Amino acid sequence: MHAPAPDRYERMTYRHCGRSGLQLPPLSLGLWHNFGGVDPFDVGRAMVLRAFDRGITHFDLANNYGPEPGTAESNFGRILRDDLAAYRDEMVISTKAGYRMWPGPYGEWGSRKYLLASLDQSLQRMGLEYVDIFYHHRPDPDTPLEESMLALEQAVRQGKALYAGISNYGPDQTRDAVAMLRELSVPIVVHQPRYSMFERSPEQGLLGTIEELGIGCVVFSPLAQGLLTSRYLRDIPADSRAAKPHGALGADSVTMQRRAQILALNDIARARGQSLAQLAIAWVLRHAAVTSAIIGASRVSQLDENLGVLDAPPLTADELRAIDRVLE
Ligand code: NDP
Repeated sequence: MHAPAPDRYERMTYRHCGRSGLQLPPLSLGLWHNFGGVDPFDVGRAMVLRAFDRGITHFDLANNYGPEPGTAESNFGRILRDDLAAYRDEMVISTKAGYRMWPGPYGEWGSRKYLLASLDQSLQRMGLEYVDIFYHHRPDPDTPLEESMLALEQAVRQGKALYAGISNYGPDQTRDAVAMLRELSVPIVVHQPRYSMFERSPEQGLLGTIEELGIGCVVFSPLAQGLLTSRYLRDIPADSRAAKPHGALGADSVTMQRRAQILALNDIARARGQSLAQLAIAWVLRHAAVTSAIIGASRVSQLDENLGVLDAPPLTADELRAIDRVLE
C-alpha cells in the first residue's frame, strides 16, 4: 500500500465542475498513452502515485486505452488494488465508451447494448464497483441520442457511475444531450473536448455553450500530444509519441510551419520563465469555461514540470496577443 504525501492537498486548489458540487484539480492525469500493456508498468505506476501525491485526484481512462485496448484500465486497477485501495474516496475516476472495443456490431458507438456492456467490462478491469464519471466518448450519428442518454441514465441509476459526461459532442448535440439528461434528473456534469493552442475550434461555440449550460469542461490533449512541449524543438526523439508505432501523433504532424510556431511559442514561454508545456497548460486554463486540463505524460519528470504551471502568474493581455499572432 502506498503512503501518500500528507501535504497533498496543501498546494493544490480545486475548481467546481460547472455548477455541480464535484470539484476537480486544474490538472488531471490521462491514461490514453503510456499506461498500456506495451508500456513499462512501473513507470505508469510511479506517475499515478506521484500525481496523487501532488493533489491530482482525477484520473481519466476509457475502455479502449492501451494498447491492447483495455490494458490501461487493467493496469490502473492493479495500481488501485496494490497501492491506493484505501484512498478510493479521495479519487475521481472516469471512463468512457464510444470507440471500437470489441468486434461485431455491439463493440463501438452509442447503442444501449454497447455502452452498458462496456461499462461493466471497465468496472471489472479496474476492480471497481462504480466510476465517478461515465462518458459517452463520441456522438453516434446512427443511434438516437435518446438511446445513448438513457444508457447513461441507467448507469447512474444502477450506481455504476456517479455522474455522466459527454465527449467530442458539438454545441447543438451538447445542448440536446444536457437537456435530455436533465429531464431525466441525471447529473450530467462535464464535457470533454480537445482544446489547445493548436486546436481552437471549441472557441467557435462549444466553450460558450458549455458555460451557458453550467457544466464543467475537462479538456484533452492540451499539449497537442506533446507538440506544445520541448519534445520537438529540434527533431523527433526516438522515445517520443511521434516516433512510436502505436502513438496517435504521426511524425508528419511536425511540419515546418508547426516547428516555426513551436519555436516562437517557446520564446514566449521562456520570456515568462516557463517551459512551453507550462505555457500551453496555462493557456487552456485561462479560459473561464475550462475546469481542468487532462495531461498525458511518459515519465514522472514531465508530470512534475507540468505541475509547475500552478505556481506561475496568469497570462497577461500582451502575452495572449503575442500567442494569437503566432497561431494566426
Ligand atoms: P497531452 O497533449 O498532454 O500530451 C501528452 C504527451 O506530451 C506525453 O505523452 C508526452 O509525450 C508529452 N509531454 C507531456 N508533458 C511533457 C513535458 N513536460 N515535456 C515534454 N513532453 C511532455 O495529452 P494526451 O494527448 O496524452 O491526452 C491526455 C488525456 O486526454 C488522455 O490520456 C486521455 O485521458 C484524454 N483524451 C481524451 C480523448 C477523448 O476523445 N475524450 C482523446 C484523447 C485523449 P511523449 O510520450 O512523447 O513523452
